[in-house]
Amino acid sequence: MAEVTFLADHAFLPDGWGQNVLIRVDTHGIIEAVEPNAGNTGGAERLRGATLPGLPNLHSHTFQRGMAGLAERRGPAHDSFWSWREVMYRFVRVLTPDDVEAIAAMAMVEMLEGGFTSLAEFHYLHHAPDGAPYANPAEIAERIAAAAARTGIGLTLLPVLYTYGGFGSQPSGDGQRRFLNDLGGYFRLHEASAKALRDLPGSVVGVAPHSLRAVSPEQLNRLVDALPDGPIHIHIAEQMKEVEDCLAWCGRRPVAWLADNVTLSGRWTLIHATHMDEGEVAAVAASGAVAGLCPITEANLGDGVFEGIAFLGHQGRIGVGSDSNVEITAAGELRMLEYSQRLRHRGRNLLAGHEGASTGETLYRAALEGGRQALAQTVGAIAPGQRADLVVLDTAHPAFASGRPVDFLDAYVFGAGSEAVATVIVAGKPVVSDGRHRGRDPIVRRYRETLLRIIAS
Ligand SMILES: [Zn+2]
Repeated sequence: MAEVTFLADHAFLPDGWGQNVLIRVDTHGIIEAVEPNAGNTGGAERLRGATLPGLPNLHSHTFQRGMAGLAERRGPAHDSFWSWREVMYRFVRVLTPDDVEAIAAMAMVEMLEGGFTSLAEFHYLHHAPDGAPYANPAEIAERIAAAAARTGIGLTLLPVLYTYGGFGSQPSGDGQRRFLNDLGGYFRLHEASAKALRDLPGSVVGVAPHSLRAVSPEQLNRLVDALPDGPIHIHIAEQMKEVEDCLAWCGRRPVAWLADNVTLSGRWTLIHATHMDEGEVAAVAASGAVAGLCPITEANLGDGVFEGIAFLGHQGRIGVGSDSNVEITAAGELRMLEYSQRLRHRGRNLLAGHEGASTGETLYRAALEGGRQALAQTVGAIAPGQRADLVVLDTAHPAFASGRPVDFLDAYVFGAGSEAVATVIVAGKPVVSDGRHRGRDPIVRRYRETLLRIIAS
């Protein structure tokens, strides 16, 4: 790609809003220079409205996008995360690698249109429907990489180790057979996944023990020792039943057990650290690990409410993810995060930190920093050395009528949401214009055909 220079009317810089900001991007899509109050702007491409660093999406299972709206009908007994999981297992049973690619591309288009410019894909669907490994262990990882290449989203791929069906190395169930590997199989998968990403610029491969339900303590330690590079993500403490089962297994809660048995650090992202007591909150915050929150999915699945006030009070690091992809919106995840706190504590502006602080801006900034750390990508700021991942908001939307930059992030998060996303640029290249992904139509067509076939079967 050629060098490109943008001129943003307003740009959200590390120290606040700047006006008439020149952003010079090199041939690799990396920001070379940022110049506010630019005088000479000859030849620059104008970004009208408000330009933000694109938000990293730190947790997703893209294939679950295909289930959106298909698990909202009341079942015979109490519906919960666990009955939803049975629906997911049935859905997984029929997916071919082609199907996974079609659904992933659809989800990634919606992520880009929804203000996410990079993605950590927590990838656990590895084998054929009968559980037999494909000849290429990265068969499906390659499909996810292909969807990322086609849509232009920045990818951190997290191949998942999934061995057991419950705490204490319980045998796995039938619905889990496409996910399973022993440690040897996992190392082959990890190596093949790294190869699958070789031609995808800026991509990262990480490590993902699925949960304390699905891996043993021995596996967890060997995994972390054997793969010393890349981010580590784990599902932890999403459901109260998970906490109770963990207590029954070892006498400790999941987050406490993890903090005692591995060296938590900035390498770690704890997905759904929903159920934490005071000691767990303090331990995770002090470790520098990111709490990976997926507020829309957590609401959809009835998981519970994150200890947001306490965790941010301890300067804990947070980021957001779209997880089940039932609805895909960067602003909407931040809004739901704050609203869950308001409903629980019956107050307002609970995560803003101090008097006068903007809630939208506080949460957006926190999710940029936590997301950057969780994805281990050089993104999350409009600054030299960062990848030029930009989301341009249309400030002609009525939510921005005040015209004041100090209100822009609150107008985006609490008012307009994804409707305001006009242009999205990844690595200096525009992928969304006028709110629509440039490759949208054929991807939607293929997605529809795929879904109709899956539902018919
Ligand atoms: Zn998840």
